[in-house]
Amino acid sequence: MTYVVTDACIRCKYMDCVEVCPVDCFYEGENMLVINPNECIDCGVCEPECPAEAILPDTEGGNEKWLELNATFSSQWPNITRKKDSPADADEFKGKDGKYDEYFSPEPGEGD
Ligand code: SF4
Ligand code: SF4
Repeated sequence: MTYVVTDACIRCKYMDCVEVCPVDCFYEGENMLVINPNECIDCGVCEPECPAEAILPDTEGGNEKWLELNATFSSQWPNITRKKDSPADADEFKGKDGKYDEYFSPEPGEGD
């Protein structure tokens, strides 16, 4: 089991999660973060920290797609361990449906 970041993170990117992860397994894309499923130790501390409720256990039904996305992009994007400023318009995208289709970007973020 691992935890995964879902599309609820897209364009919100609050980054409260990276501060609490004991094994620094978050990776930064242009407009969302992902978790490396091979590094995550399933401690669960990041899940309640996310204001967008974007972090879920991969055992919840329907999360296979997000597990695959987290596995793929955590090997391509840079590691991030410190909270930065979230996008100025982050709150406008919180809780919006269909963000993956509309806004997902495979481009990397800047990392630490
Ligand atoms: S706290 Fe939630 S919304 Fe913010 S970067 Fe982490 S997963 Fe994304
Ligand atoms: S569950 Fe724990 S180890 Fe996994 S990403 Fe969250 S804080 Fe990091």
